Order: sequence, then structure tokens, then C-alpha cells
Amino acid sequence: MHTPFCLHKCHYCDFNSHVFKQPPWEDYTAGLIKELTYYAKQAQFSGREITSIFFGGGTPSLAPASLFEAVLDKVAALFPLVKDVEITLEANPGASEAKRFQAYHDAGINRLSIGVQSFDDVELKWLERVHSADEAIKAYHMARDVGFDHINLDLMYALPHQSLAQWFVSLEKAIAMGPEHLSCYQLTVEPHTALHVTHKKQKLALPDEDLALDFFWLTRKRLAQAGYAAYEISNFAKADKHCRHNCGYWLYDDYIGIGAGAAGKWDRLDGGVRRYSNIRSPQTYIDTVLKDGVATNTQEDLSKREAMGEAVWLGLRRSQGVDDSWFTQRFGQAVDEAYPTLLRQWLNQDKIIAQHDHILLTATGLSLADDIAASFL
Ligand code: SF4
Repeated sequence: MHTPFCLHKCHYCDFNSHVFKQPPWEDYTAGLIKELTYYAKQAQFSGREITSIFFGGGTPSLAPASLFEAVLDKVAALFPLVKDVEITLEANPGASEAKRFQAYHDAGINRLSIGVQSFDDVELKWLERVHSADEAIKAYHMARDVGFDHINLDLMYALPHQSLAQWFVSLEKAIAMGPEHLSCYQLTVEPHTALHVTHKKQKLALPDEDLALDFFWLTRKRLAQAGYAAYEISNFAKADKHCRHNCGYWLYDDYIGIGAGAAGKWDRLDGGVRRYSNIRSPQTYIDTVLKDGVATNTQEDLSKREAMGEAVWLGLRRSQGVDDSWFTQRFGQAVDEAYPTLLRQWLNQDKIIAQHDHILLTATGLSLADDIAASFL
């Protein structure tokens, strides 16, 4: 479920987020409920068991707990839920958000993902975040105090002028706090962002490829020592504490996306895939969904061949790689039958390895992960 509202648009952000001082929560909640009801009646989703629910954004932690209560009640009324359903909320660590943590926990949220990004106030200011490092630490402890036992911290590295030593300080602070999960992403200058415009005018001192890789390997090494397994390129977890929801994307599961700019996907019977995305403007989304019950903006049908490429592209992000038995069952062909030449090329270059019925990136392949994964598309 996407919440597209933020207090401020951070200059690097390319998410569907819009600055609203007072988001129209009641209308937005009504829209979400209508959209859920619509998808529950569709043959591809009707009666299917829900394994995870993710409230992302934007800044969902600006919303009153009543929004999540209403949506969760509706999900439970419309779909069977697995017993230990994972329910994540993305939260910014501002003081006012942290005050709502108790209510969120009471509403049924059982996993909190806190957008810390850095424990350095100068870096936070450059990122245009509206919280301080101290507030992030306080928010984390408040989350623990109200009972959250599954917390993720989002961090960002390879910022302009950032040294490895500076990044290491933030990383150490995060480890010392003891979250169950850490997501560590490299800053990328995305098109259509204010940062992109700045970068074009006055080149930012971003790390070159070698230094960016040093950040990447330092992060993996230190987190491995601290007991966090790298189960995906940018995601690290203590035992059994991986994010079930994100694993669903990489495992090519089906999902319903509701809210402005949200996206969904389901497997078609012919082996291909249907994707959709919603209207991005919050007010147009609300107006449309309240009138029509659904607010689709784009739809795309991927052929079986295209879906195969996408499944490999996503699966290679996982440390366990692509499960060849699953792939064969899903597409009627093993990965090496579908991509004999390409796979051989990466195997010969020692960038990919086939082991225990899985196709995965080697250590040298990891450094080129994006290019290798994209070659299957
Ligand atoms: S708070 Fe998050 S979603 Fe909102 S503008 Fe900043 S990065 Fe984007």
C-alpha cells in the first residue's frame, strides 16, 4: 500500500511522493478500501492467502493509526491471512512520528522499517532529511519500548565527499543499536530529481566506481562479522529476520498494489505476466478510485519469454540466486535451456555459478550485479 505524502521532497527522491501539509487521510483511506474490495473480487486474487502487507511511501508514518486499522481490518475481511503474516510500516524517525509508534503497534503493525539514512547530521542535512541523528536513535528506542521486535534501519552510502571512515561510523552506530535487519543502499542520482538537475549544473563529488565498490564490500564484510547475512545485494538480516515482503518481489510472487502510484503483478495462465500501475497524483487517484473503484494508469502484458528474463533478473539479486527447480516448474524450461549461450558466457567468466540447483552470482559477479542481471532482460 503506497502513501504518497511527505512533509518535504528530498532532492534525491524519485518515489511517488508529494508534499502535503495536511493529507486528506479520510478520503485516501476510503479509496484504499474501495480498491482492495475491487481486487478481492478479481479471479487472479480472490481467496488467495496473504503472506505480507507493506505500508510504504512517501511517508506512511504521517498517517493516523486509524488508516492502518481500517485497511488491515478490510484485508482480513476479504482475504485469508497466514498466521504469522508480516505487516511492515515504513517510518521516518521524526519525533512526531515516533509518538505514534504505540498506536501503530496496537493497530497490528509487526515490523517497522525506519528511514534513518545516516547518523551524521551534516549528511542528513545534505540529504534534506527532516530528522536528526539523535531523533533517529530516540525513534529506534521508542519502537523497541512499544514492543517492535522486528526493526529495519535504512542507510545510504557513497554520498558526495563521504569517506569510507565516515560511512563506517554510521554503520557501527547502526550495528550497536542491534536492529534485526539493515538495508544499505548506494546513493544514485536518479533522472527527474532535483539532485539530477544539480548534478548536471555542478558535478557532484560522487565516488568513482572503485570507491563505490569499496563501500559495498566494506559494508558486507563488517555486517557479516556482526552477524547479519547478506541475503540480497543491499539487504542484511539476522537469522530468520529477512523481509518476507521484499523476498516476494525477488521470488517473482504475485502482489496487489493499492494507493496512488502503487504497482501490482500477477502470473497469467499462459506463462506471461500482467503488470499495472496506478494514477500517481494523490487527488486524481482519490477522485478516480472513489468513482470507479479502481485507479489504474498503465497496464502491461509480459510474454512468457519476457517474464523468464525478469524472473532471472530479480532472482539474481538474492544470495541464494534463482531456484532452478522453481524456474523449470514455472516456465517449463530450466535456466540453462532458456539461456544456453548467455548463461555459459557468465559461467565461463566466473561471474555466475550453478550449485545445488541454484544459479547465483559469484563474488566477482556481485561487483557487476546490475549488468549481469540486466543481460537476461
Ligand atoms: S521522505 Fe522518503 S519518500 Fe519522502 S521525499 Fe524523502 S526520500 Fe522521498
